Amino acid sequence: MPVSDHVNLSQFMEGVKKRNPGQTEFIQAVHEVAQDIFEFMADKVQYHEAQILRRIAEPDRIVSFRVCWEDDNHNIRVQRGWRVQNNNAIGPYKGGIRFHPSVTESVLKFLAFEQTFKNSLTGLPMGGGKGGANFNPKGKSDAEVMRFCQSFMTELYRHIGPDTDVPAGDIGVGGREIGYMFGQYKRITGRWEGVLTGKGQEYGGSQMRPEATGYGAVYFLQNMLKHKGMDVEGHSAVISGSGNVATHAAEKITQLGGKVLTMSDSGGFIHDPDGFDQEKIDWVKELKNVKRGRISEYADHFTNATFHEGKRPWDVSCDLALPCATQNELNEDEAKALVSNGCKGVSEGANMPTTLDGVKVFHDAKILYGPGKAANAGGVAVSGLEMSQNSERISWNHERLGEMLTDLMEGIHDKCTEYGDQGDGYVDYVKGANIAGFKKVADAML
Ligand code: GLU
Repeated sequence: MPVSDHVNLSQFMEGVKKRNPGQTEFIQAVHEVAQDIFEFMADKVQYHEAQILRRIAEPDRIVSFRVCWEDDNHNIRVQRGWRVQNNNAIGPYKGGIRFHPSVTESVLKFLAFEQTFKNSLTGLPMGGGKGGANFNPKGKSDAEVMRFCQSFMTELYRHIGPDTDVPAGDIGVGGREIGYMFGQYKRITGRWEGVLTGKGQEYGGSQMRPEATGYGAVYFLQNMLKHKGMDVEGHSAVISGSGNVATHAAEKITQLGGKVLTMSDSGGFIHDPDGFDQEKIDWVKELKNVKRGRISEYADHFTNATFHEGKRPWDVSCDLALPCATQNELNEDEAKALVSNGCKGVSEGANMPTTLDGVKVFHDAKILYGPGKAANAGGVAVSGLEMSQNSERISWNHERLGEMLTDLMEGIHDKCTEYGDQGDGYVDYVKGANIAGFKKVADAML
């Protein structure tokens, strides 16, 4: 059958919508990828015949389970947990676990789908998966979080393994939660295995994993700027979020001579016109990781800083923007504000933080735009290195890992330019990431 007789983009998307009713995040993610892939497949009948995109956009399996736990007042609480195993053509399923009240099957399907492309782009042998629960760790005691994590793993353990599926952290899941889950896996199976990444350094974790996503997003930005003869030094940056990704992105921007103006959480954002130096970033890390406080408290400690309740930071004038909080946190109007205020480059530390309309604004303005699946791939790339370390029973030091992360991000940038260069000096990094990520998985499937 000639290529022209196969389904086109709009017929394909109609099918996706019909098969996934109401799953808006998943449909949005598939649409964004499908636009580029249909163009790429225009003269490639083999992908159409094998229905490759249709297959990648249908998770291999979704495990859905009940998670029961007891709170500190001895009430029994019931939550839903999931693991979406999207595709393992190029390696074991790999991707984080998210604990947040916004978690639904649609959100995890979108994340697992994106992860498949992201992991492929790293060049390491990892398939795509994602998991999580609609559990809110905010305001819970350590003991409550521990009991939830143990209960979650009591079901999850039977679906994962070092060569099957290797989860890691994501929003709401950091070193503490990974520790509780790893302990439960070990207790149930009696085996020490590299079944989770993001582990503590004392028990097989990578020395670079906490920094990797944030640093990687800045390295990706640095590569985009370098491609245009620019640098981070002397430029101002607006960052959203204040968790692991945001604080490490801020740290790297500062180390490279940039000035970070904002950080945020779900309550609002802090604008510090003096810039977040290392001392202030360390204060935020302590606030979030140890005290588990709110970013608003920053304004009480540092003069000149202001807190903007319920607002997002995108109308603060800046040269660079790094959305490092969550999906759909930057819309069309906010993208327009960034562009009209002179923003030159956007690098996404979060997954799909910019809406499709927002992405179009960046493309139309031809500013540098690194989508999450490329820009934040440093996290999962270092997870891949953690898997290798665990299999080999070795450990690389911080310096060596820093070099490897730098090389991995450069490699991802180069793959994006290979498939995304529009020939007029403009690189469409979304297109580059989608096609490069797709091609490896598709060829493996063929
Ligand atoms: N949750 C991170 C991501 O979105 C990391 C996943 C991992 O390390 O497996 O890529």
